[in-house]
Amino acid sequence: MTDSNPSADGELERSIREIGADLASAFPSNARHPLRALDSRAMDLASADQELKAALFRFVDVTPACRSLDDLARHLREYLREVPDAPPPLAAAMRIADVKAARPAVGAAAAAGVRHMAHRFIIGETPASALGVLRDLWNHGVASSVDLLGEATVTQPEADRYAARCDEALVELSRAERDWPSRDVLERDGIGSIPRTNVSVKISALTPLLRPDAPELGRRDAAERLRPLLRHADELGAHIHIDMESLDSREAVLDLVLEVLGEEAFIRGPSAGLVLQAYLRDSPEQLERILQWASSSGRTPPLTVRLVKGAYWDHELVQATQHGWPAPVFEVKAECDRNFEALTRRLLEARPAVRVAVASHNLRSVAHAIAHSRRLGGQDRDLELQVLRGLGDQLQDALASRGFRVRTYCPVGDLVAGMAYLVRRLLENTSNESFLHEQARGVPLEQLLAAP
Ligand SMILES: Cc1cc2nc3c(=O)[nH]c(=O)nc-3n(C[C@H](O)[C@H](O)[C@H](O)COP(=O)(O)OP(=O)(O)OC[C@H]3O[C@@H](n4cnc5c(N)ncnc54)[C@H](O)[C@@H]3O)c2cc1C
Repeated sequence: MTDSNPSADGELERSIREIGADLASAFPSNARHPLRALDSRAMDLASADQELKAALFRFVDVTPACRSLDDLARHLREYLREVPDAPPPLAAAMRIADVKAARPAVGAAAAAGVRHMAHRFIIGETPASALGVLRDLWNHGVASSVDLLGEATVTQPEADRYAARCDEALVELSRAERDWPSRDVLERDGIGSIPRTNVSVKISALTPLLRPDAPELGRRDAAERLRPLLRHADELGAHIHIDMESLDSREAVLDLVLEVLGEEAFIRGPSAGLVLQAYLRDSPEQLERILQWASSSGRTPPLTVRLVKGAYWDHELVQATQHGWPAPVFEVKAECDRNFEALTRRLLEARPAVRVAVASHNLRSVAHAIAHSRRLGGQDRDLELQVLRGLGDQLQDALASRGFRVRTYCPVGDLVAGMAYLVRRLLENTSNESFLHEQARGVPLEQLLAAP
């Protein structure tokens, strides 16, 4: 357990600052700042103007459904009309969009903008077309997890298609990755070997029946599609990671994963993992449940726990407010960050019953995990750090240059399937409290690395 000895805590803080400053100095260059990926002026303006932000989100949301450029320009104009004081460049675009003959040009520019932005986050339409990027990452000392875009399916054929796409990705990736050069830091920790092929899977895409009022039905239906994936991953030596989504499916997902991975057929493999969301107030109890399972099931290789803050913060608050429920998430960012650190420590102390993956773009959260791991006497290879493609590129390069195992989460799919993903990334990063936003505003490093 962590002692509350003030001099030991002071030592830990010093070590966090040192590690954080060293990583910051290894960031490739200011010219490639992550928020640039969200695209310059529109996003800067959106951060400062809530109504414009709402209009841009609605626009991004509707882009894939537009049938023509004319259609797209019309939507852009309609959404921007709702913004009381449109900034000059947008006001000009609206005036042009009023002229029918000019609409396709405005539409083309807008569509290109959305596509450009999406390509920063989405590495290809199919696993085959993503192989070049994945190999490049590997050559630069970066592992990956491929996420087949698509969430919350509504029909059985859709769920079948998603499962088939995941299966094809397992086959395609493991075939290609076999020929990659060996990279010890990415392929081995103190427990043993780590698969090259890593696919992230969403349970809500594996079944249309995942509803909070009938969790058993969804669980059973999803398990039918999850088992063949696990069997195939085991044959191919690949890793399957189950993402966590909004709170209304959390219990069902956790029950399902622990139940299926505990079955006789899967107790010796494949390598698999799940996600813990630190923004949830009850996450410490959830972690205890996971750790209890990990030590009592005796499963090998041990479960990988990816610790995140959580991507559905606004959604959870709105849901709770609408139903008159108490907020299930922390409402003060520092409380969420402190909980993230407490969970990091608990997880690191639970090794080797679990493998630990800390997924964050927050330099303080990451430096804290590294410092505490070292303080426990752990080797750096016994901690994995994870980032999202397009947002964590700089941190990814810095971590790789310092010899850490870093894994980048790489979405693959078409623009339509990617919209929900893109909108979440935009929402998250134009929030004033986001670490990346603070970093982009030029908050001094010392402040960024201060204890939450
Ligand atoms: C590799 C990887 C995989 C991921 N997989 C998942 C997944 O399966 N499921 C999932 O839900 N998320 C997932 N995420 C997203 C993650 O949950 C975060 O949304 C994202 O990483 C931003 O957090 P941060 O630590 O990088 O940045 P920070 O800026 O430090 O934190 C931002 C986060 O803090 C929280 N927050 C914001 N405002 C407040 C507030 N006022 N009070 C309390 N908390 C607040 C929110 O969770 C917000 O996302 C993943 C992230 C990575 C890097």
